Amino acid sequence: MALKQTKFVLGEDRIPRSFYNIVADLPEPPAPVLHPGTGQPVGPDDLSPLFPMALIGQEVSTEREIEIPEPVRQAYALYRPSPLYRAHRLEAALDTPAHIYYKYEGVSPAGSHKPNTALAQAFYNKEQGTKRLATETGAGQWGSALAFAGAYFGLEVKVYMVRASYDQKPYRRNLMEVYGAEVVASPSMTTNYGRKVLADDPDSPGSLGIAISEAVEDTAGREDTKYSLGSVLNHVLLHQTVIGQEAMEQMAMAGEKPDILIACAGGGSNFAGLTFPFIGQKLRGEADYRVIAVEPEAAPSMTRGVYAYDFGDTGQMTPLVKMHTLGHDFIPEPIHAGGLRYHGMSPLVSLLKERGIIEAQAVHQNASFAAGVRFAKLEGILPAPEPTHAIKVAIDEALRAKAEGKPTVILFNLCGHGHFDLSAYERYLAGDLEDYELPQSRIEHAQATLPMR
Ligand SMILES: *Cc1c(COP(=O)(O)O)cnc(C)c1O
Repeated sequence: MALKQTKFVLGEDRIPRSFYNIVADLPEPPAPVLHPGTGQPVGPDDLSPLFPMALIGQEVSTEREIEIPEPVRQAYALYRPSPLYRAHRLEAALDTPAHIYYKYEGVSPAGSHKPNTALAQAFYNKEQGTKRLATETGAGQWGSALAFAGAYFGLEVKVYMVRASYDQKPYRRNLMEVYGAEVVASPSMTTNYGRKVLADDPDSPGSLGIAISEAVEDTAGREDTKYSLGSVLNHVLLHQTVIGQEAMEQMAMAGEKPDILIACAGGGSNFAGLTFPFIGQKLRGEADYRVIAVEPEAAPSMTRGVYAYDFGDTGQMTPLVKMHTLGHDFIPEPIHAGGLRYHGMSPLVSLLKERGIIEAQAVHQNASFAAGVRFAKLEGILPAPEPTHAIKVAIDEALRAKAEGKPTVILFNLCGHGHFDLSAYERYLAGDLEDYELPQSRIEHAQATLPMR
């Protein structure tokens, strides 16, 4: 008897040849990025201290397709194309008529989708003569991806790691150090901004917003260094579209088209990576999909935040971008989905949400972990805490399909594995995880601190 097909695998020759730029298909141009001092749109010269020209060009490009350099495709071949799975056992357990598929990005060396952009960024920097990259990391996923990419292309990497994670997640730090990166806890004594935060609060647990300020300051002070960001920016989302392009081909192999696409969203990059190529079809009138971004209740930028210009960092050093934000000084509760603890959302994802092209939902961490544990038992793969948010909503949608007796094809992004997050699972299993409801006063505070009211 033939096996039911579970895994859809493409050959190396099917690694995409170009990145897909959704800006070419948007109904309106994205809002300009503004200079934090002048409030005027930034030009390439404002950004060139931070990023290499190739990435600045991609940040503002309106071309639909941007060719992927061969050395980057070669690096992708270490783990791409990533597999697409059909979750037969989850479907059976839910007794749903829905078909559930997931794209698995945990097969990369760092264990998540983040190397898709880390490798591209390291390549373009190396090509322009950059010697060193400075960055921040929350849970350590981005730091380990960039450390790996730096090792691969021969660049030094300095990582400002949020203090709380630095103390709680030594293994991520160890992995970065194995790849040769230098890691310091943020706030640190090595930048003016870090010293200022520590003077006010010597026990500061840090935040992504603070760590970004430190990495930007580090970069601005050194000729040999550029800054690298793991999410939010247009060029980061662009690089992640290899995920959705492959998934589209793999869904065709499976002989199906998704009705609903789901991914978790912290800064929006894995969400964009899976969904933008499909949303492009929707925007061009070639197909229709429901697209759902899932965020934590503890940092609900899209479902409860304000759509306005704000800083990307706490120290108010980055340019202003128009996005869904909880306020640049927001320090999220210590939920275990570290990658989802950010005050803002990618401007491109925010625009799609604002125009009703995508939906957003927020879920609590106990419900997410419950979905993650259920998924691990049935499908074997231990998800990172972030994509358990997507799994929760995928299960909800599969149960809705059952209630409505409607055959529905669901595709979600399993953007990373949870092998470094077992202490979080331990706490969940012990019943020690708290759910955090964001007080409305926090939203009012965000509104009051927006730079351009
Ligand atoms: C970084 C990270 C996220 C959040 O970032 P996005 O840019 O929203 O994708 C989610 N999941 C994993 C596994 C991550 O490493």
